[in-house]
Amino acid sequence: MRNKLFMLVPAIIIVVAACAKEEKAMTNRVVKTEQEWKAQLSDEQYRVTRQKGTERPYTGQYWNHKELGIYSCVCCGTDLFLSDTKFDAGCGWPSYFKPVDDKVITEKRDTSGGRVRTEVLCSKCDAHLGHVFPDGPPPTGLRYCINSASIKFRNPSSFPSSREGEKE
Ligand SMILES: [Zn+2]
Repeated sequence: MRNKLFMLVPAIIIVVAACAKEEKAMTNRVVKTEQEWKAQLSDEQYRVTRQKGTERPYTGQYWNHKELGIYSCVCCGTDLFLSDTKFDAGCGWPSYFKPVDDKVITEKRDTSGGRVRTEVLCSKCDAHLGHVFPDGPPPTGLRYCINSASIKFRNPSSFPSSREGEKE
């Protein structure tokens, strides 16, 4: 019976000096003072995005907007939602079933108003966008309920402009 008790742990201890860079996932974050945001935004955009306000339903610019294009953050211009993920949720706010990329949206637990909801913010500039609810359509089953005041629509020239001339 050989009772070889081999406990040869390769004791190679590499002492890596903690020189890891202090780098967060979003390196190009946009940070501005309240004064700078106020100067850049309308009163309503400022109230919603920087003070977590909510526009009244059916009053915003985009709840019934159906053009093809991209909706980006009104504060920093990050692309957030594509028109082909927009759907009519009947709630009076623009609603999407997913963002262009998970990274552009930050989710945060929100217990204000005596309810538990999930707030969605722009990952780049922390603009309050709205909330996400688990009652959306396939394929995600999610409803990103977004304030029109938080977003800005653009119709890139690369998109077919077949709906041109469609006015309300
Ligand atoms: Zn932003």
